[in-house]
Amino acid sequence: MRPYLLLTPGPLTTTDTVKEAMMSDWCTWDEDYNIGIVEQIRGQLVELAATRPDEYTAVLMQGSGTFCVEATLGTAVKPTDKLLVAANGAYGKRMGVIADYYHLDCQVMKFEETEAVDPARIDAYLTEHGDVTHVSEVHCETTTGVLNPLKEIAEVVKRHGKVLIVDAMSSFGGVPIDMTELGIDFMISSANKCIQGVPDFGFVIARRSALEQCEGVARSLSLDLYDQWRTMEDGHGKWRFTSPTHVVRAFMQALAELKEEGGIAARHARYAENHSRLVAGMRSMGFRTLLPDEVQSPIITSFHYPSADFDFKAFYTKLKAKGFVIYPGKISQADTFRIGNIGDVFPNDFNRLTETIRGIIA
Ligand SMILES: *Cc1c(COP(=O)(O)O)cnc(C)c1O
Repeated sequence: MRPYLLLTPGPLTTTDTVKEAMMSDWCTWDEDYNIGIVEQIRGQLVELAATRPDEYTAVLMQGSGTFCVEATLGTAVKPTDKLLVAANGAYGKRMGVIADYYHLDCQVMKFEETEAVDPARIDAYLTEHGDVTHVSEVHCETTTGVLNPLKEIAEVVKRHGKVLIVDAMSSFGGVPIDMTELGIDFMISSANKCIQGVPDFGFVIARRSALEQCEGVARSLSLDLYDQWRTMEDGHGKWRFTSPTHVVRAFMQALAELKEEGGIAARHARYAENHSRLVAGMRSMGFRTLLPDEVQSPIITSFHYPSADFDFKAFYTKLKAKGFVIYPGKISQADTFRIGNIGDVFPNDFNRLTETIRGIIA
């Protein structure tokens, strides 16, 4: 079932038990699926995300993570609203692209890809532009691996009384986040990241009172987050259109395995240890990380090419033959490659990985 480890954050390496959970068929009209699986998942997601779960609700949506980001922006931000997007990588920029498609009144505040979003700049902008209604940002920018200061950003956005939308795609489940404490209104993630499920659906955890105000706003039928939620809520786990039943069942198994591991705190500790073994091993061979340690997440790590004539393709192919699949870089200012620290992978896998790399570059 596992020809190589995917050190590629989404899709990532999953357990055999998660994959085996897909070996039966489910009827979307039957209680075994709606109540037995979908409602269980929705309940568990709000429990994981908020210390006051009764104020929050979860919606599952077909498609990859971007579908959920688009569904959220397209459903929560009205044509008369004004959106501020903080962007320090490809995923932040993508929110700006979505806003363009929807002709939203949107300002994209750009930051360097190698630095974190600066809450002071958001503060200054909001002070000057009182008409902003919504602020959205990416928690872990998977482009580089920067972990943006969510707590400080949330404090600023909430002090100004704005709606806060967070793309926590690659961090939710792997980094503790309390929507209640931070005052987050909409938080987006997907099945195939830190919960360690398989693709192809995402989910949005929303403040119930904020989502309730979104009726009739969406300008897309299939990406109408409100309508999807209303149907799930009233139909007790019913999806509007065909749902990825096998993938959803696998996700329920992945949630059970997260609990068995000891929850988000324990998973975070494992990812952090994966990351530190990786970095220690790579630095001992002379590799340099793209980011300073202060802004680095435990989710994915970018490394500079060790030399100008480094042949990434050859390196990739040799590593793959030894059982490890890694990622190319995604930024323009530097030649980099990326190694994911998340999934069903353990500190010892990173010891093996760095020893394998030592052999390859020798
Ligand atoms: C993975 C990811 C997404 C969604 O990407 P898809 O390819 O649509 O799944 C969005 N934002 C971040 C930060 C991500 O890591």
